[in-house]
Amino acid sequence: MLLIALATAMIVSALAGLKLISDKGDDYASPGLHTEVWQGYQLRSEMQRLLNTARAVEKGQEGATALMMRLGVMRNTLDPFRHTRVFDYLPVPRPEARATIKRLDSLSANWMQKLAWQDDAGARRVASDMLNVLPGQLRPAHDLIVISNIAVAAQLDSERQSLQLTFHRLTGTLILMACGCLILALRILSSQRRSRRLARELQILNSSLERRVQSRTALLHEREALLRTILDSTPSDVTLLSADQRRVFYVSDNLLAQTGTRRAEDFHLETLFENQDDYRLTTERLKRGETLHQVEARLCPTSPYWALLTARPLRIHAQSAWLIWCLDITHRKAMEHKLQQLAATDALTGLYNRRALLRAAVKQLRRDRRASLSVLLIDIDHFKQINDEHGHPVGDQALRTLAQQLGGLMRDNALLGRVGGEEFAVVLPGRSCEAAGLVAERLRAAIADTPLRVNDAVTLSMTLSIGVSQRHEGDSLKSLMTRADRALYQAKAEGRNRCCQIAFEAPPELVVPAVDEA
Ligand code: GH3
Ligand code: MG
Ligand code: MG
Repeated sequence: MLLIALATAMIVSALAGLKLISDKGDDYASPGLHTEVWQGYQLRSEMQRLLNTARAVEKGQEGATALMMRLGVMRNTLDPFRHTRVFDYLPVPRPEARATIKRLDSLSANWMQKLAWQDDAGARRVASDMLNVLPGQLRPAHDLIVISNIAVAAQLDSERQSLQLTFHRLTGTLILMACGCLILALRILSSQRRSRRLARELQILNSSLERRVQSRTALLHEREALLRTILDSTPSDVTLLSADQRRVFYVSDNLLAQTGTRRAEDFHLETLFENQDDYRLTTERLKRGETLHQVEARLCPTSPYWALLTARPLRIHAQSAWLIWCLDITHRKAMEHKLQQLAATDALTGLYNRRALLRAAVKQLRRDRRASLSVLLIDIDHFKQINDEHGHPVGDQALRTLAQQLGGLMRDNALLGRVGGEEFAVVLPGRSCEAAGLVAERLRAAIADTPLRVNDAVTLSMTLSIGVSQRHEGDSLKSLMTRADRALYQAKAEGRNRCCQIAFEAPPELVVPAVDEA
């Protein structure tokens, strides 16, 4: 900015100096400058000649024509004085100079008016007037020469001084321009040096930056390769994709195969889910910024399997992204199912165990709190003797065979379970007290009437004692079981191989039993 201002100032001053010199040159080149002194001499000599001509006219030697011509010449020499400004330069004003010019002008004009061609008589009169007046004007005319001289000298002085001033200014301007040029040159030199130094530094920086970028890129590639190796060898299937699902950063080969997708960029998350509600819920939670931790979901619609889904939103390349891990838990699910079955099943007979049977009964009660429900508690009579006589394994087999037979005798929605060593229970939903009694009797009679073929060698006669209880409104399962137990005890006491029933006695405290109550 400073340099531009300096250069502009230099150009302006150079132009101004040139203009000044050009103007002065024009002044000195203009014609008729400082001719007033010469004109003054001319005027005086013309006045002298006019006087001579006037004398000749008076004597009759010259005519009007000669006088008119001489007077005209004199007027012409007077002419430059009419407009000259040279007297303005006089150090002391001399008004008599302009007065002389004015007087001579007026006299000559008056004479010129009076003269006429061929009028010699008139010319003589004018000549006589001239001879009277003109000699007195020779002295002022001489003064006019002196005054003109002084004025021209003053004018020349003033112009010289002005020229001197102009030269001084020009010198100043030139010195300033030289200084400006020097500053400019120094600035240009220093800028060049600076730019060369900066270029060198920039080159060094560039090459160092290039090296850093190369090493960072190599490191990133290494890490990416490492990450891919880890992801490829992880037991879970993984996908990493942008939150708008337009870009897939990574997807396991297994997921591609499961969704029938050829290329990673064609992978769509929704094709992964068997149930579209699961897809919707998962993406909604991710959009809210939530992390899903081990959520079970059915994946892969073509051959569905259970998976544990862990998904979390994150930022990758300054973009929102989702990282989703899917762990196949088909085997675990199968194991869970098996364990659940084992936990609910009696190992010897394959029937419900006590806990599972009571759970099922509670479920029934919860389904319909007012529905009627009966319980049969069955105990094998003198089973200890069977063990004692045939051995424990035969006793086990007898228990299994009986369980099969009882199962075969069950109908509809009746639930059968082994609730003790040689004790069984039947839950009969929707049965009246009488109907339950009939079922109990049918079971007892069937077992008592049919010899139990345990194996090829052993066939047993077996009888059952059965306690029956019927649920009343507001009755709990616990009190129901207690009454069935008492009824069984009664059947045993009355001689076994029979069915007994205990009437409902007191209003129960609990309306609906809880699971843990069972
Ligand atoms: P009661 O008519 O009074 O019921 O006589 P009981 O012999 O059947 O009754 P008790 O309670 O005296 O004996 C039950 C027997 O059942 C005792 C036990 O050895 C046998 N037992 C219990 N669980 C099993 C089992 O899983 N396998 C075998 N083999 N025997 C069992
Ligand atoms: Mg018993
Ligand atoms: Mg018994």
